[in-house]
Amino acid sequence: MARVRSSGNRTTELRMIQLLKEHGVTGWRRASGLIGKPDFVWREQRVVLFVDGCFWHGHDCDRNLRPAKNKKFWESKIKINHHRDRFVVNTLRSHGWHVVRLWECMLVKQPARCIASLMRVLTATPR
Ligand SMILES: [Zn+2]
Repeated sequence: MARVRSSGNRTTELRMIQLLKEHGVTGWRRASGLIGKPDFVWREQRVVLFVDGCFWHGHDCDRNLRPAKNKKFWESKIKINHHRDRFVVNTLRSHGWHVVRLWECMLVKQPARCIASLMRVLTATPR
């Protein structure tokens, strides 16, 4: 099942890094040790960014090609991911973090919109 990859999707991460560089967005770090392992962290602004893989996080889009085999297995796995996502976001927020989540498909389809929603949060929080 070539389509099914781990949640750490290298192509998506590199695309996000490229977008950040193109728009001159600085101050981010990768490895943070925070719960849920956010993909990007701005410590000063207390902002975390997750780029969610459409398959693993159950996005209802054309990039989410659900495998026909083991349907039940994947459905329950994605459901568990959903619950964990919610738990992670709530936990981070309760610790004063601002959480931004972007879908991997949107990075391709609407990169400007992705950057705009990230910038809205980054600029709204004082350094
Ligand atoms: Zn998607």
